[in-house]
Amino acid sequence: MLVDTHCHVHESTYPHAADQVLQRATDAGVTTMICVGTDDKSSNEAYDFAIAHTGVYCSIGIHPHEVARNTNGGLAELNVHFLGSLISDKFTKGHASKLVAIGEIGLDYFYEHAPRDTQIKVLKEQIQLALEYDLPIIFHVREAFDDFWPIFDSFNGTIKGVLHSFTDSAENMRAAIARGLYIGVNGISTFTKDEAQKEMFASIPVNRLLLETDAPFLTPTPLRGKVNEPAFVRYVADHHATIRGLSTDELAARTTANAHALFALSLNTNS
Ligand SMILES: [Zn+2]
Repeated sequence: MLVDTHCHVHESTYPHAADQVLQRATDAGVTTMICVGTDDKSSNEAYDFAIAHTGVYCSIGIHPHEVARNTNGGLAELNVHFLGSLISDKFTKGHASKLVAIGEIGLDYFYEHAPRDTQIKVLKEQIQLALEYDLPIIFHVREAFDDFWPIFDSFNGTIKGVLHSFTDSAENMRAAIARGLYIGVNGISTFTKDEAQKEMFASIPVNRLLLETDAPFLTPTPLRGKVNEPAFVRYVADHHATIRGLSTDELAARTTANAHALFALSLNTNS
């Protein structure tokens, strides 16, 4: 059994019908998935999608691309406030078990769709929110680790989480492991031609490894060109099993255990 720890199949723009996507996932042994929000609208949709479907959980947050965008009739600060009220609403209505993380949140200096100071401010506010509700965090950090680590460390080891879609250096991978973070890998690890990156992917300790698709993006080999979906996380599992000399079953069991440990996923997959 596999967990897709990061996908966006709840989005209204996702091209495939939900019941078919979920059926194909089940057929591929992917019994559990986490739908990840990127702004207030998408976070709400992720939550509703999780409530409506067995084995689906959600994470809510404002992506660094979106922090300066007016998505809720206000500024980024209002969106964080909105997120806070969304969480307390979910908790009071008794569906907290479907809400398993805050994210994806972080810093993206590669695209830099929002000013760096705004990204930093909103990241800190959302970390605070996660700590308040004792939730793990799904981080998106791209070309911004020099700013990210001091912010992370300022919370004195209280943050639990994963660096999703990690593609950075072995040094930053080890810095993350040393801080107790998990490393999320997806299709990129199956098709990268970058030797240093390949080596980094192969050296991630299995007890810190999480599998994801980031669907609809980053479709793994051998399905490049298709729209990605949670069923395809098994190709990511196959790849990481092969490069470590493990069976896919063993790799799947261990990464699934990691996902359950970090996100406290209900053992009852029917919830
Ligand atoms: Zn994503």
